[in-house]
Order: sequence, then C-alpha cells, then structure tokens
Amino acid sequence: MISTTIFPGRYVQGSDAIGQLTTEIARLGNFAFAIVDKGVMALVRDTVKTDDKAKIAVEAFNGECSDEEIERIGKRVAAEGANVIAGIGGGKALDTAKAVAHAAGLPVVIVPTLASTDAPCSALSVIYTAEGAFKRYLVLPKNPDVVLVDTTLVVGAPVRLFVAGMGDALSTWFEAEDCKQTGSANMTGRVGSMTAYGLARMCFDTLLADGAAAKAAASQKIVTPEFERIVEANTLLSGLGFESGGLSGAHAIHNGLTALEGTHGYWHGEKVAIGTQSLLMLTKRPREIVNAVYGFCEAIGLPMTLADIGIGDATDEQLLEVAKLACDPADTMGNVPGSVTPKDVVAAIRAADAEGRARKAKQLAA
Ligand SMILES: [Zn+2]
Repeated sequence: MISTTIFPGRYVQGSDAIGQLTTEIARLGNFAFAIVDKGVMALVRDTVKTDDKAKIAVEAFNGECSDEEIERIGKRVAAEGANVIAGIGGGKALDTAKAVAHAAGLPVVIVPTLASTDAPCSALSVIYTAEGAFKRYLVLPKNPDVVLVDTTLVVGAPVRLFVAGMGDALSTWFEAEDCKQTGSANMTGRVGSMTAYGLARMCFDTLLADGAAAKAAASQKIVTPEFERIVEANTLLSGLGFESGGLSGAHAIHNGLTALEGTHGYWHGEKVAIGTQSLLMLTKRPREIVNAVYGFCEAIGLPMTLADIGIGDATDEQLLEVAKLACDPADTMGNVPGSVTPKDVVAAIRAADAEGRARKAKQLAA
C-alpha cells in the first residue's frame, strides 16, 4: 500500500505577518504580481508594496475565479514580467492566484485574509463561470509555495466567517477517520499517512480546547493565543487533514444541501457543520462524541438544526433529493464505512436535526 501526503511548501502565521511578504517573495523570485481582493485593498495598501527585498505590482481581483479572469491576469503577469504570483484576500482571489501561477509555471504565495475555510493550503482551485456558477475543479500538481496568514488582518473579518471556518474544520477528523477505517483514498487518489490522520485529530482536539475562547477573542477583535491556534486549525490542520486524510459524508451531505435554495444564504462551513452532525448519526458515533460535537456547536453558535441553515420546512422529498446527490458515486459518501443508501442519509439528517432541536429546547427551558 502506497500512502501519499501533500503539504504547502511553507506556512507562516502571526500578528502583522504580512510585513514578511517581501521576505517570503524574495525566497522565490524578485518581482511578484499580487492579485488583491477589492475588499482588503485599503487594508494592505501600505504593506503590499515594493521594498529593497522584492518588487510588487498590485492588481485588483474582479471578484470571480473564472477562466476569463485567469486569462486576463495571466496576460498582465506576462506583460509585467513578474516571476512570483501572490493572492491576497478571500477564497476566490486565492484560487485565481493559484490557477494563474500554475498556467504561468510560477511559484505562488497565498495570503488568506479570512479563516473561513481550509482551502488556502490546498492544491486545488474551484473555477466558476463569469456569471458565478460552478464550472469545474482544477486539480493542481502542487500546493502553494507559501501560505502566509496575518492574524491581525484575519481578526478584523466578520466573526461569523471565523465560526464558519470552525464548522468546516469540525468535519476534518470524522471524514479522515472514515477514510482511515475504510482504506479510502484522499485527494491524491492514494490513502493517507499516519501523519495526515494525526493532524486531522489534532484539528478536532484544538477546536474543542480553544474554539469558544477564540470566538470570544474574535468578537472583541483581539489576537490571543487561542485565536492564533484556531486560525491554524481552520487553515493548516484542517487543510492538511482534508486533503491528505480524505473526505467522506460530511462534505457529501454539504454538497447535496447546496441544491436547496434555502441554504444559499449560508456559508460553506455552516452547512458542513450540519453535514458533520448528520455523519455522526449516519455512522452511529458514540454518544460522548455526539455530545462533544453538539456541545461545541452550541458554545460557538454553529448551526444545529435545518432551520439554522434556512431549510426548517424541508420535506422528505427535498431531503431525498439532497441525499441522492450526496450518494452520487462521484462524491465522497462511498468513503463512509458500510453501504449507505439515500434513505439512510435522510434518516441521519432528520436524526441530527432532532438532536439539535432537543438541545435548543433545553436551552430555552434552562
Ligand atoms: Zn470544506
């Protein structure tokens, strides 16, 4: 059995870490073309600029990671003669930077300004149409050369996005554990290593230990050691854990849930939290694990019921549609132990929702 585990080349994190950007660029080249989200342009203008270590040209991202935008920026990069690509901002700007770097055969430095998903470290870009509809996954031959996370920037982002990042990270261990148990492939097509499963477990343990304190810190816009640890769990541990540990039912159910219109106003990690709770029911995880997960979601304000993600009135037919999509052979439900039917998935989603509603009722009564 050959296992495979993949990593970003370098991970840099801390308060005001963006001040290290040109130092990191200079390890890879001398001229970076930086694709910057419009929303953070004003925040980074004073730090993302040419100095004696490296030259930087800044370009505003147009908002969609589309083939058109990748081509547009690729032409600008060639015209400027840059030899490093940087992406600064949210997931789409980062995915665009990864795709541009891949097309140009250049190294890439990724600077996430949110800790809302585990995508920054991955060797993957999600390509959309110019209108914003999902088009395809672009699997890249390598992970970013550098991922640089400035926690001062991240703490300035909305708390709800930080909490959603914990929802995404919450799935990591359970999906990796399923893949470990069933010998299923990770994102490389081979099984994961002991290291990947170990990091996925560390992700879960870190969430339970520091999640509530980190949320409190984020609410007050203060970078504390707990906040730092959760940013690392959401970004690096969850990133390594999902990519090299593998995915199973939580993301498959998330993907199914996106078919229901009502969920469209909710973030990826918020829907993944519901997917995770449903996976616990589907796989009959021990009661103490179920309690730990729901207790965590309750403490930090992650969704626990279908109503929390906009589909409190979902019919059995609608949930069956979700479940059928989740069980699509092209998705990752097949990595769950045992054989799973769409009916099993509907029952698990209903059981997870009932558990969440019971907890909320208890909360109200107390
Ligand atoms: Zn995810």
